[in-house]
Amino acid sequence: MADLPRTISVREVGPRDGLQNEDPVPTQAKIELIDRLSGTGVRRIEAVSFVRPEAIPQMADADEVWRGIARAAGVRYSALVPNLRGAARALDSGVIEIEAVVSASDTHNRKNVNRSTAESLDDIAQVIALAHDRGATCQVIVSTAWGCPYEGDVPVERVVGTAGRALADGADTVSFGDTTGMATPGRVTRLVGEFRSANPDAALNLHFHNTRGTGLANVLAALELGVADFDASVGGLGGCPYAPGATGNIATEELVHMVEDMGVGTGIDLAALIEAAADAERIIGRQLPSQVLRAGPRSRTIAV
Ligand code: ZN
Repeated sequence: MADLPRTISVREVGPRDGLQNEDPVPTQAKIELIDRLSGTGVRRIEAVSFVRPEAIPQMADADEVWRGIARAAGVRYSALVPNLRGAARALDSGVIEIEAVVSASDTHNRKNVNRSTAESLDDIAQVIALAHDRGATCQVIVSTAWGCPYEGDVPVERVVGTAGRALADGADTVSFGDTTGMATPGRVTRLVGEFRSANPDAALNLHFHNTRGTGLANVLAALELGVADFDASVGGLGGCPYAPGATGNIATEELVHMVEDMGVGTGIDLAALIEAAADAERIIGRQLPSQVLRAGPRSRTIAV
């Protein structure tokens, strides 16, 4: 096996990407989940999205959640924004780490925000400038990076080009999002390789969904290329907006469980994380897809 990174950085996205794709839950439950997660050793939490309540009712209480969470020492909290107005709202609320999203697929981008990928990139250039003006950082997430529910495969050159434009406009980092769970390891290797060739110094985050069961295989392919920054969702919270009933993001405890056993540090206490996943399951009121939550860690033994 190739040399793997000694450590990776995990961004917990359950409170945002996860809960956005679940039935709405009470504000206080969201705050408690985020606070519990911040006690597991995870150092980055995507907490909310500052979107219009009419667009995404699940995030209607973003301001309250953002105000209500305890700021744990050493934990960075971020927020997703859909446009310049959302960015201003986030920055006014004191967010210093924002994420803007654009779809590499024109059709998907038009369905989401009624404009082309290029038009969204123009807007995002303004979001980046505003964030920097206010002393914040901005990551640009390129969604449908491995495929689009309307167009099918999205050409690698188009995905790399979208990310390259964002970096040229000042994005601090970029992320590739497998919004619909269409990535497989070979496709991960190809996209990351092409991106690295074009942008050897850019920091890259990868965001996998386990919609078709390839989530952790994709992580492994990326680890072998030295990628050391991954999103995951506690319990595997969330779903796929285009496939009712499908599973969501890779589960954080499954990611931690796998990579730690391979000698890749995360700084996360797996037992505490599994307890947080059990909490998430109680909050949602349905069984979450995480298999490590069901079975426990491989080190668990039965008393004889
Ligand atoms: Zn996602």
